[in-house]
Amino acid sequence: MVSLTELTGRALADISASADIARLEEARVHWLGKKGLITEQLKSLGAMPAEQRKEAGARINEAKEAVQAAIDARRTVLEAEEISRKLAQGRIDITLDGRGEVPGGLHPVTRARLRIERLFREVGFEVAEGPEIEDDFHNFSALNVPANHPARAMHDTFYLEHEVEGERALLRTHTSPVQIRALRAARDNLPLAVIAPGRVYRMDSDATHTPMFHQVEGLLVDEGVSFANLKAILHGFMEAFFERDLSMRLRPSYFPFTEPSAEVDITCVACGGSGCRLCKHTGWIEVLGCGMVHPNVLTACEVDSERYTAYAFGMGIDRLAMLRYGVTDLRLFFENDLRFLRQFRGGWS
Ligand SMILES: [Zn+2]
Repeated sequence: MVSLTELTGRALADISASADIARLEEARVHWLGKKGLITEQLKSLGAMPAEQRKEAGARINEAKEAVQAAIDARRTVLEAEEISRKLAQGRIDITLDGRGEVPGGLHPVTRARLRIERLFREVGFEVAEGPEIEDDFHNFSALNVPANHPARAMHDTFYLEHEVEGERALLRTHTSPVQIRALRAARDNLPLAVIAPGRVYRMDSDATHTPMFHQVEGLLVDEGVSFANLKAILHGFMEAFFERDLSMRLRPSYFPFTEPSAEVDITCVACGGSGCRLCKHTGWIEVLGCGMVHPNVLTACEVDSERYTAYAFGMGIDRLAMLRYGVTDLRLFFENDLRFLRQFRGGWS
């Protein structure tokens, strides 16, 4: 019978002769596996007298540990050799992303918002933010929305249980209250040019409406501001946002906070105006609402409506993102399916 010392010596020689990881693994199984030659030694303990068993067991465990340590050391050497070999062969592309580390990206709605902010900043607008939980005054009254206006009905608005500054709290239904806050803060320091992007809330849910969506509204207050200025800034913005020449048309409309008011259509970005399903074969798509700010709104913000005029506009960021990226169901933006979102990973806007 081969002695334990002899076995250990053979095992160590086998390990140091293993030329690669696979061969080393075979050696490990051969010596230390469940039926390995050194493991088998433990079985001989049962036949030994009790007084010898303890010492013999300790020697076998020592041998196992020595062999395991040799295997670990050999594995480290072999792994390092393999990496240098692959590097030498140019088989490791060090420019690849790390394993399991998927780079993040901006959400398409965020990309659209950043793009809108950048384009308006370039022409002198500042970006303002405000609270999403608003009060009745900032969301409605200051915007010339009379008490019986349908927008106030429970049907559209999420009302909260508590009050803010003595008024019933609600989730803002548009970002107009941010403009009210900005205008009240700047009333002694006009002119003012500001856009207010952000989340807004309404009780609505289908393929083109979600209870939470994103709006950007703009407000410019100065002496002698005209509808022509409004049309020019919107046309320039739309062409810059969609990166193409577009026709724009205004249709008379009604909003409580602007007078006169208009809906704005642009050339359909899907068909270029020839007619398609997106534009219902009209060649036009509606993109925003706008108008000259109602004097009552200026007055509510303590601005002299005889001296100053203002224009305002509001549009859906989600809708603009859908049109820019050719997305047909708004809900895709909020389901957070990575297969959808990863398509927008690269770039900024
Ligand atoms: Zn079309």
